[in-house]
Amino acid sequence: MDTPMPVADSKPIDSEELVRPPYEIRKLVFVWLAHILLAAGTVLWAFDYFPVTWPSVALAVGWFVVSSTAITAGYHRLFSHAAYRAKWPLELFYLITGAAAFQGSALQWSAQHRDHHTYVDQPKDPYNIHMGFWFAHMGWVVRQTNPNFDRVKDLQKSPLMAWQLRNYYPIGFLSSFIVPTLIGSLWGEALGAFFMVGLVRLVIQWHMTFCVNSVAHYWGTQKYSKQHTARGSWWLAFITWGEMDHNFHHTFPSDFRTGTRWYDFDPGKWVVWLSEKVGLATHLKKMDPERIERAMERAKEGH
Ligand SMILES: [Zn+2]
Ligand SMILES: [Zn+2]
Repeated sequence: MDTPMPVADSKPIDSEELVRPPYEIRKLVFVWLAHILLAAGTVLWAFDYFPVTWPSVALAVGWFVVSSTAITAGYHRLFSHAAYRAKWPLELFYLITGAAAFQGSALQWSAQHRDHHTYVDQPKDPYNIHMGFWFAHMGWVVRQTNPNFDRVKDLQKSPLMAWQLRNYYPIGFLSSFIVPTLIGSLWGEALGAFFMVGLVRLVIQWHMTFCVNSVAHYWGTQKYSKQHTARGSWWLAFITWGEMDHNFHHTFPSDFRTGTRWYDFDPGKWVVWLSEKVGLATHLKKMDPERIERAMERAKEGH
């Protein structure tokens, strides 16, 4: 599953080329509805219309950890970047738990993300920071997208990816809303579990992923390359679930880590490492330290 990842063309951007695609009503309704229901649910909970006890909070935290890691270790580093290879049970696990994040099918997510790396900062970048902070954050999410599926021919060969694509909505609704609501009913809190897992967890998780495309292309240092807008900072790790050094990631996208220090907060990297130890992952890609050092020297010189 080796994927060629062309580097961005660094020609200056002509602002007239930056055209926002039209809104897609289905996405607009879904994203706004989740936010509105979250706000309404918060008011109803505050006025004691339904209870939320610790088991429902713990369920939401657990759901958040698992599905956020499915996005970073699965959708991002495994599927989009082929930064390692996974055995099919792990691939299947990421396809189910990643769907709970409601960020699209893994195939569409990966095609779009590969477009982002290829055209970063250019008019064809799907979450182009030059279109504005809010466009890069969530404006693109509610608009029409047209990812280049020729870029994911390697993934199209996987029957599991095809299965997730065909059944994306049933898998997403089951893993994001229905199953956690049923689990909550075990302690008599179906509505509380739906609110905590289906709304609070989902919306927080969305914004944490969106921050990778907005905040991580806006604030922070450029220690590895100044050829693109991606940036890194220790605090980014905590608002993006471990995508700490996006500058490192855009400079070395096939590395399974988002930084070189093992102890930096990066649950995706630790899970990939652990998956290798238990035999579920192989061929972990790590950049040669000398190449990283050279990149840092060049970045210091302004490249
Ligand atoms: Zn990026
Ligand atoms: Zn990436």
